[in-house]
Amino acid sequence: MRTERAQMEDRPDIVAVMVGIAVEGPYSYRVPPGMAVARGSIVAVPLGPRLIQGVVWGPPKDVVAHSRLRDIAHAYDVPQLSEELLKLVEWVAKYTLAAPGQVLRAVLRSTEALDAPKPVVAYRRTGREPEKLTPARLRVLDALMDDLAWPKSALIGATGVSPSVIDGLERAGAVEKLEMPPPPVVLPPDPDTDIATLSEAQQQALAQITALDPHQFGVALLDGVTGGGKTEVFFEAVADTLRAGRQALILLPEIALTNTFISRFTKRFGTKPAEWHSDMTPLQRARVWRGVLDGTVRAVVGARSALFLPFRELGMLVLDEEHDGAYKQADGITYHARDMAVVRAHLSNARVILSSATPSVETRNNANVGRYAHVLLTSRFAEASMPNITAIDMRIDGPEKGQWIAPLLAREVFAALDRGEQALLFLNRRGYAPLTLCKSCGHQYQCPDCSAWMVEHRFRGVLMCHHCGHEVRTPKVCEKCGDTESLTAVGPGIERIAEEAAARFPDAKRVILSSDMGSNAQLRERFSEIERGEFDLIIGTQLVSKGHHFEKLSVVGVLDADLGLAHGDPRAAEKTFQILTQVAGRAGRASKTGKAFLQTYHPDHAVMKAMVSGDREAFYAHELMAREAGGLPPFGRLAALIVSANEHDAAMNFAKKLLSAAPMADGVRLFGPADAPVAMVRGRHRVRLLAQSGKDFDLSGYVRFWLGSAEKVTGNLRVQVDIDPMSFM
Ligand SMILES: [Zn+2]
Ligand SMILES: [Zn+2]
Repeated sequence: MRTERAQMEDRPDIVAVMVGIAVEGPYSYRVPPGMAVARGSIVAVPLGPRLIQGVVWGPPKDVVAHSRLRDIAHAYDVPQLSEELLKLVEWVAKYTLAAPGQVLRAVLRSTEALDAPKPVVAYRRTGREPEKLTPARLRVLDALMDDLAWPKSALIGATGVSPSVIDGLERAGAVEKLEMPPPPVVLPPDPDTDIATLSEAQQQALAQITALDPHQFGVALLDGVTGGGKTEVFFEAVADTLRAGRQALILLPEIALTNTFISRFTKRFGTKPAEWHSDMTPLQRARVWRGVLDGTVRAVVGARSALFLPFRELGMLVLDEEHDGAYKQADGITYHARDMAVVRAHLSNARVILSSATPSVETRNNANVGRYAHVLLTSRFAEASMPNITAIDMRIDGPEKGQWIAPLLAREVFAALDRGEQALLFLNRRGYAPLTLCKSCGHQYQCPDCSAWMVEHRFRGVLMCHHCGHEVRTPKVCEKCGDTESLTAVGPGIERIAEEAAARFPDAKRVILSSDMGSNAQLRERFSEIERGEFDLIIGTQLVSKGHHFEKLSVVGVLDADLGLAHGDPRAAEKTFQILTQVAGRAGRASKTGKAFLQTYHPDHAVMKAMVSGDREAFYAHELMAREAGGLPPFGRLAALIVSANEHDAAMNFAKKLLSAAPMADGVRLFGPADAPVAMVRGRHRVRLLAQSGKDFDLSGYVRFWLGSAEKVTGNLRVQVDIDPMSFM
């Protein structure tokens, strides 16, 4: 960069500016006299008829006549973006094949953040008494006795007077109006507030992490059972980073649902963390963004997009539940937050902690080969131990027809309820039934726009497509043959399990947890109620598997342990293993040993065997061997190309042309084109191509070259590229 900066000094009047829209590279602009900008400066530039945000990227790439250029309209009075953040933008664009401007937009997302923060209106006593003293005026003056300035809103809140009372006092000369800088969005966390007393195992784990040079890039896999005390360990590592004067970022997969984590952070560091997720208002986001950039915000707890916050002194990144699928962004820039966190840490000379009870196979492999420090936290915290896991063979010991809970599981749930403990019934499928079928004519209800069944949601009285959200009222008459009383719900969803549970366990206080059962705020409240023991029987989807601490829970039943294994997805076994382990790990988290039951038709599958025997090493060994044999990640690379169009033939024909235009390259194998497993979504037909290569091959570069040399898409054709796909739908 030194050379680029030097060049900028040679021609300070022309710079390249990257704008936050999907363009491939920066444009040249003139720097008007009196304006000083450098690489990383955030500016507003004219583009066509509008003004748009951008970032000064460096000297212009090509020589353009000075007179043809337009001036930078405005340079914002905020610190420059750091060199490593600009490099991250370039890296992500290159790797995911997104346009650099599109990635930059993920950085610049907040417009309010760039203007000077609005001052707060506050009032202070002048010492002069007003001529007329009403009770309301007296309350205000009493509140201001301490001679400090009070923000207007706080003053109104404390005294209950109307704003006009304060205005009147101001006119009477008894109080004066001041403008104060707004308070910081959060107070700085104090690393020494409530230092945890760590167990011996935790101390050893922490020592392994802090042994990583704090000024060098390094990654630690913090690998330990659910409830094993990993959070305490990484909090201490975060404290270590804060003490060293650097910023910390903690990513959580489902932050909007997590009350517990925020309160644990607050207890440990004496103040709330700055949060970053979709439930925040634009103004809250703006203030956090600016605080991160000017350095007043020292620690952020956020969703995956927090990776693009403008940290200047990032020293530590933590990814809790690093295996979680929520870290992959599937739309727009298709990045994986785990991989990008490692890249960002590399650019910032920062440390990374990847924390999980069920690490991804990729991360486990990096630890196995010594690329990451493998920090094992073995003993379960607070004297709890891993649950005993039993497979229920549904071919032999399954429930009676029309029921979904096997007799053995039902007995165990009864026993737990009798003991005053909690039980959990888990099925990772929303709604009442995945299929509605006419018994008379065999008609199956399908979404008109997607190749998917309409899922019945009985509480809401609708059939709904889970791909596009299309809904119809639940029909009473078959739309095909007109028969009444002939429509049947086939298979269970979570609502149907709840119905069976109500009939079998009528005295239990029951709660259903499913992402369609309320707002995030309502779901957070449900979780708190469960943690307080207000329910006996929890019936839930994947939502319940994530990071919640239910102390009284002692029995977990997984109603369809095979659910994830059905797809032709190379990660199916891993995903199933992870979710089953996470759900089973909810049992027995306090002092009791829990029990978990897996209802399965495949008790001999490697995943089920590893679960029952508690031998996760066997699972990883088996899975790594299978991946290596297939040349699959982490031993190979994959890139998916999804061609979509309004007509099936258009998509398929273009995909065939793409395939024939593919450049020859050693070790690259191409598969397809084939209709995607979900062959139509929102009325668009989808055809997939898959490229596979060795792990040291630049597959992103190959695909970029391929698409660059192939025919361009026209009309309603689209080609979407997914490097390192996690889903094969
Ligand atoms: Zn029918
Ligand atoms: Zn649909």
